Amino acid sequence: MARRREEQERRDHRKLGSELDLFSIHEEIGGGLISWHPKGAVLRFQIETYLRGLLDDDGYQFVYTPHVASEKLYERSGHLENYADLMYGAMDIEGNPFRAKPMNCPNHIMIYKTHLHSYRELPIRLAEFGTVYRFEKSGVLHGLLRVRGFTQDDAHIFCRMDQIQEEITKLLRLASRVYKDFGFAKIKSFLSTKPPQSAGDPALWAEAEKMLRAALDAEGFRYEVDEGGGAFYGPKIDLKIEDAIGREWQLCTVQLDFTLPRKFDATYRNDKGGEDQVVMIHRAILGSFERFVGVLIEHYAGNFPLWLAPVQVKVLTVNTEVEAAARELWAKLRHAGLRPAIDAGPDKVGYKVREATLERIPYMVVIGPKDVAAGTLSLRLRDGTQVAAVSPEELIEKLLLEVREKRLTPVFKA
Ligand SMILES: [Zn+2]
Repeated sequence: MARRREEQERRDHRKLGSELDLFSIHEEIGGGLISWHPKGAVLRFQIETYLRGLLDDDGYQFVYTPHVASEKLYERSGHLENYADLMYGAMDIEGNPFRAKPMNCPNHIMIYKTHLHSYRELPIRLAEFGTVYRFEKSGVLHGLLRVRGFTQDDAHIFCRMDQIQEEITKLLRLASRVYKDFGFAKIKSFLSTKPPQSAGDPALWAEAEKMLRAALDAEGFRYEVDEGGGAFYGPKIDLKIEDAIGREWQLCTVQLDFTLPRKFDATYRNDKGGEDQVVMIHRAILGSFERFVGVLIEHYAGNFPLWLAPVQVKVLTVNTEVEAAARELWAKLRHAGLRPAIDAGPDKVGYKVREATLERIPYMVVIGPKDVAAGTLSLRLRDGTQVAAVSPEELIEKLLLEVREKRLTPVFKA
């Protein structure tokens, strides 16, 4: 037990976040509001870029929506009635009440509704890395894991009833791929079914639940069923991952919704020329970038795999003689698309190695006069492993391979 607590403390993302210069929280700005530092921003940007690529391949279209909206929107969506507790108070704009956005869903429906859609156009998948603000008491705030402002990797899929299974299948595949790429091998799934108090036709619920089960079964997901645990507006699937020390984190929710489209009168033209109500699927794979990065920091104890590491390789000089050669190597690495740093200062190389180790930089290149004469370099891995006589070309080639394949173990250790 003491061991586990020690391990948790060693991995605490708040401590590592400050040591690795990733993010900060300031009383002057407000509790639960995150300031991302340059290195944290690089990490987040890698995650966003990676995800954007996958979503693009899966037929999502990206949108941006405002951070505040008229209260009228939340009256219609039912948020004011059902979620007032998690919303911040109204701000007055020319006598009209506005609210900070607690969810992106109503905004995406408004975009969907700007066109009349035919059944043939569906599904329409609108994605947004959408920043939302939710009320949390100061006592429960916790680093990146429990915050007041966060950016969800949100999306809403507008589809027909008969498309649900295929969309859920795609989502399960996407989530598995994403978790695997980030180094989470174990996934637990949960299906929540119709609660006693629910909106919508029971036949619709039964049909939807059947499709969710079929998708989970077909993709080989073993799941627990939470009978009656669904929201009143539709059944849902939750996915949890397990981190390096066996803790479970719920990241993904796939929520079917028959109610919001009805409230907003969101329809499509069916094959008989009539109008049918569209089905809406709310889903996030990572949840929010804040929380996910918090989980990642703790999972890796700050030792990010190369493709995510804010600084991937640091060039260290032994003396001033080799500075020009070190700068040349730095430029080559950068030109190759890697994220290098350089320490050509007057400190002893032993000190420079210790610093880079504390920064948890995956690779250190130590350059001395012998290396320059031989045209090779000496490599030092984060765990202390040393590799001698590596050519700059080999280094670049192998690091790019490690990044491209999102390897979890360094190529130089394989
Ligand atoms: Zn939503």
